[in-house]
Amino acid sequence: MGAPKVGIVSLGCPKALVDSERILTRLRAEGYEISPSYDGADVVLVNTCGFLDSAKKESLDAIGEAIKENGRVIVTGCMGVESDMIRQIHPDVLAVTGPHQYEQVVSAVHEAVPPTHNPFTDLVPPEGLRLTPRHYAYLKISEGCNNRCSFCIIPSLRGDLVSRPIHSVLREAEKLAVAGVKELLVISQDTSAYGVDVKYKTEKWYDREVRTRFFDLCNELANFDLWVRLHYVYPYPHVDEVIPLMAEGKILPYLDIPFQHASPTVLKAMRRPAAQEKQLDRIRKWRQDCPHLVLRSTFITGFPGETEEDFQFMLDWLKEAQLDRVGCFKYEPVEGATANDLPGAVPEEVKQERWERFMETQKAISAERLQQKVGWTLGVLIDEVDEDGAIGRSYADAPEIDGNVFLNGETGLKPGDMVDVTIEHADEYDLWGSVERDL
Ligand code: SF4
Repeated sequence: MGAPKVGIVSLGCPKALVDSERILTRLRAEGYEISPSYDGADVVLVNTCGFLDSAKKESLDAIGEAIKENGRVIVTGCMGVESDMIRQIHPDVLAVTGPHQYEQVVSAVHEAVPPTHNPFTDLVPPEGLRLTPRHYAYLKISEGCNNRCSFCIIPSLRGDLVSRPIHSVLREAEKLAVAGVKELLVISQDTSAYGVDVKYKTEKWYDREVRTRFFDLCNELANFDLWVRLHYVYPYPHVDEVIPLMAEGKILPYLDIPFQHASPTVLKAMRRPAAQEKQLDRIRKWRQDCPHLVLRSTFITGFPGETEEDFQFMLDWLKEAQLDRVGCFKYEPVEGATANDLPGAVPEEVKQERWERFMETQKAISAERLQQKVGWTLGVLIDEVDEDGAIGRSYADAPEIDGNVFLNGETGLKPGDMVDVTIEHADEYDLWGSVERDL
C-alpha cells in the first residue's frame, strides 16, 4: 500500500501559510505524502482565515468545495475557534481545530488516515517543507498580539504576544540560508514588539549574547548574507535603531508599516499602537539617513466616525509622506470587534468614493516614485520565467503584495537567480529593465 496522501488548502495571510508549512513538515516526517489535487488525497486539510467576514465566507466556501470534491475534510486555522458554526454549515467535516493547534491537527489526520510506517525524519529536509518557492521563505518570530485595535479580533483568536526564543528563530533562519533561500520575510502580528513578553531575555547564540529584541534580531539576521525584509513593523521609537542597518546594506531598506489611517481622531477610535503625530518627521529623518528606504503600508477608509475632514487629512498626509507602496481596504465590520459598537457608520457609497480618491492619489505618488528609479541599477531576484522572459523583484518589492521587475526576453534565467538590472521603464506599479552583463 502506498503512503497516505494529504491535500491542503491554505487560506489567509503569510502567518497562516507558515502554520500550514509546519503542519506539512510534521506530516511528511511521519511518512505522509502531499497530494496536489483533491482526487489523489485521502484527506484534505483546510487552513482557514477568520480575520474579516469576507475571509470567513471564503473559508466556508473552501470547506464546502473540499467536501464536495473529496469528502474527507479537516478544518484548522483562525476560523477553527468557531467550530459550532462550521459544523452547522458543514456537518460532514471530520474535525475542527483552532490556530496553532499543530498537535491536534496532526492527531486528527492520524485518526482519519493512520500513518502506514514508522517515521523517517530524514525524509524531511532540515529546513522543513515550505509552500513558498525555494528562494524565499517567511520567518515567523512570534504569535499573538498585545494591542487591542478596535477593528481587529486577532488578539481574541490568538491571544497575547508570545515571542519565539531568539536562538530558535536564528537557527531556523540559518537552516533556510544553508538550504539556499535568498530572501527571508520576517512576519508576526507586531514585529517591532518582539521580545516584550520575555522582557528582552538574553540568550547565547554561538559565542555571543543576543537579546530577544527587534534590533538584535535584525542585526543577527544580517549575518546570513541574504535579503531580510521586515513586515508588520509598528513605528515604536526603537525602530529608528534599525535604519543604520538598512543604510549600510545589511538588511533591506524596506519597512512595511501598517499605518491604517493618519487622522488622530480616527486613530484614537481605532486604538492603534504607536503614537502617530510625529510620523512625518520620522519618515523624513529615516529617508535622510537611508535615502533609498522604501515604505509600504495599508490603510482603511470609511472607519466608523470618519468625517470628510478626517479623510482629507489622510490624503494630505499621504501626499506628504510619499509612501512607495500602499494598499487600501474599505472598512468592513468583523463579528466580535469592538469597533462594531462605534457610532457614525459610513455609508457604502461614501466608503467607495473615498477609496477611489485614495487609490487615485496613491497611484500618482507610486508612479512618480517608480519613475525616479529609471536609470538606476537594482539587484533583482527572479521569481518566475516564462516564454516571454523573466519576472523578478528588487529590494523595493515584497512577493505577492508589491510590484515586479519585468525582464523581457530573459528566458535563460531561473527562479532564485539574482541579477543586476538597469531600469529602463516604469508604470504605476511595475518596472522594466535589462540585465547588466560584462562585455
Ligand atoms: S496590532 Fe492591532 S490590528 Fe494588528 S493584530 Fe494586533 S490588535 Fe490586530
